[in-house]
Amino acid sequence: MFSSYLEAFEHLQPLRQRVLHVLRALPAEVQQDFLTDTCFNVLLDNYAPGEGSMVFMAVSGEGGISSRSVVLRPRLSDCDEAFAYYVIAHEFAHAYLRNGPWGDIADCEEAADALAAHWGFLMPVS
Ligand SMILES: [Zn+2]
Repeated sequence: MFSSYLEAFEHLQPLRQRVLHVLRALPAEVQQDFLTDTCFNVLLDNYAPGEGSMVFMAVSGEGGISSRSVVLRPRLSDCDEAFAYYVIAHEFAHAYLRNGPWGDIADCEEAADALAAHWGFLMPVS
């Protein structure tokens, strides 16, 4: 059911499996929200490994086609599994919330963390 979101990761195991694991763990209404939105997509960041920071951003546009694209870094394939799950869930939370607040949580980063935790993916304590 999620195969169209995994095309970008076809040759990047275990990230493909990690993305699928998180997608399958999402509540049904969240899965349906993504599956019925043609603007939702999951993409692989093209930056060369090692470039940039450890910040994983969901692209937010003004209603453009990429407005709900989740962009994931290739290094999520190599890093600690629990951390990768957390980052992927955090980005899906942004997409679900459309980079907005969640309930009483106005800060979109805190909202994404809280929703990811609600789905069972807490930020690992190092
Ligand atoms: Zn974030």
